Amino acid sequence: MRITVDPGRCVGAGQCVLTAPDLFDQDDDGLVTVLAGAADAADPGDVRDAAALCPSGAISVAAD
Ligand code: SF4
Repeated sequence: MRITVDPGRCVGAGQCVLTAPDLFDQDDDGLVTVLAGAADAADPGDVRDAAALCPSGAISVAAD
């Protein structure tokens, strides 16, 4: 699974962190970051939920 985030589209809503806290975090400006190494261990369902809940479409998920 490949997870791509676009901080330029992120509006800091935090839905991704609430949905998948083991995978996503927010920087000091509230913009999304992906935690290092987390993608391999992430629950695919949580990742897809986070992408679907993001109000700005900043999260993309693709199969390897
Ligand atoms: S849910 Fe979307 S807009 Fe909100 S912090 Fe996460 S990536 Fe940014």
